[in-house]
Amino acid sequence: MTDRKTHSIALVSSFVLLSSCASSVDSFGDAVSYEPAESTTTKNVILMVSDGIGFNGWLAADYYQGRAGEQSYQVVRPDGTVPLVYGMTHDALNLIDASGEIISDREDLPNAVGAVEQGYDPLTRWDRFEGAFPNDFAPVNAPYTAYTDSAAAGTALMTGRKTSNGRINMDWSGKERFRTIAQIAMDLDRSAGTVASVMASHATPASVIAHNVSRNNYAEIFNEMVSSELDVIMGAGHPYYDASGNAVEPEGDEAFQFIGGKETLAALTSDTGLNGFAFIDSRSDFEALASGAKVPERVVGIAQSNSTLQARREGLPSSDTPSGMAFNANVPDLATMSVGALNVLSQDNDGFFLMIEGGAVDWMGHANNMPRFIEEQVDFNLAIDAVISWVETNSSWDETLLIITADHETGSIWGEGTWTNSVGGPVALDATEDAIISARYDPTEDIFNEFRAVQDRGAGNIPGYQFATGNHSNELVPLWAIGAGSDAFAEFTRTDLKAAELWGEPYAWDGRIVDNTAVFSVMSLALLDDR
Ligand SMILES: [Zn+2]
Repeated sequence: MTDRKTHSIALVSSFVLLSSCASSVDSFGDAVSYEPAESTTTKNVILMVSDGIGFNGWLAADYYQGRAGEQSYQVVRPDGTVPLVYGMTHDALNLIDASGEIISDREDLPNAVGAVEQGYDPLTRWDRFEGAFPNDFAPVNAPYTAYTDSAAAGTALMTGRKTSNGRINMDWSGKERFRTIAQIAMDLDRSAGTVASVMASHATPASVIAHNVSRNNYAEIFNEMVSSELDVIMGAGHPYYDASGNAVEPEGDEAFQFIGGKETLAALTSDTGLNGFAFIDSRSDFEALASGAKVPERVVGIAQSNSTLQARREGLPSSDTPSGMAFNANVPDLATMSVGALNVLSQDNDGFFLMIEGGAVDWMGHANNMPRFIEEQVDFNLAIDAVISWVETNSSWDETLLIITADHETGSIWGEGTWTNSVGGPVALDATEDAIISARYDPTEDIFNEFRAVQDRGAGNIPGYQFATGNHSNELVPLWAIGAGSDAFAEFTRTDLKAAELWGEPYAWDGRIVDNTAVFSVMSLALLDDR
């Protein structure tokens, strides 16, 4: 039995039972020696995270593409593999002071004596519109931070452990270090890497391998990443380019923080290099890597933008994009980076772990900028298509697990008419900050009508929507899982029927939900357990 692709789960378990005997006797009475059971753990694990998007935002981009329920990861694959779909909760721990009060003022952080969880409750969430988001109009210190940030969410996805906002793979007190799925994969002789459309040391890619009490210690985080055994570190954060493709003179040492500081960049680009990493930054370098032309053992790839690949571009010509502005031609797209990363990591015959983040969806959610939010999510969807195509060409769903999800929701996106605004109508009248804030949900002036999903206005058209806040929310996010080991999600489910009423139909989702810690559990079961 050398072809693992033909194993069914039942066949494998019976074979393992048989092979535990030194030998056996077949039905013809001849002594038969069985070879030791071949390892049937999952070879490759790929986690794709769209940062800051729930069901409504996901649907908005799918509707714009005209592909709701028809994306590559939402339909049965050519080999018959069926993608699984869930909702996912993602709450972080809230810190408490000595009297047991939740600390909502960041300045009180040194007074934290413990942490409590206030998770998503499918029964009470639908009682009150604001049940899943602190609204922008409440007194400053009143709302607790029931929503997670990307650091605590990334930590939960990568380690299965809840922590407080801001921490990267460390407990709420900042003392205990958590072991990540990338470390587990590398301890099992697999390679590992990370790709992001924002700065390479931003919270989500940081949570693949780094340990830090604060996500804001970018230079420390990046230096830990390049000192680790990760073979691929890709993202933006280039000090010599702005977000629109223009060369700039770096402003002080701060400009170098996202890639570890001036000295780290000097080492990476020196003749001897740093820790055996090839350093690439031009779009053509990324494209060559994706084409498989020139594949080094280890790569640090920093796209030529100081923040995001596309989301923050300015001053480019008008074009047929959702936002009406041409894309920055200086940088690769997420699909190109992802395939390049797969080409590097798959050189390890034992397999790999790869995290890919569409990082700027969240930034456009904060900005309540729906056209660019859609651009970012479409870029992420195209990256998923490229990854699926890579798996089906170079590997298979019998040996590869792909999980696609978000780390939290941003902006509290709802369908048009969910609430009636006293000012401005459902959508901001213009792009001024005043107009954007006025369009958000203000309970003292606005009237909540009913929960409405975003409305499909056809391919190429922006769906009907409203943004309730400029913050993260505790709203459910979708999760798809395809391939080897994905069945294990069934062990971790609860149910939210009301959510399925709103968003179930285009995705054939029945309301089953998992927590973000289950993502780590399923990935580690896949890597560790014989199936
Ligand atoms: Zn955010």
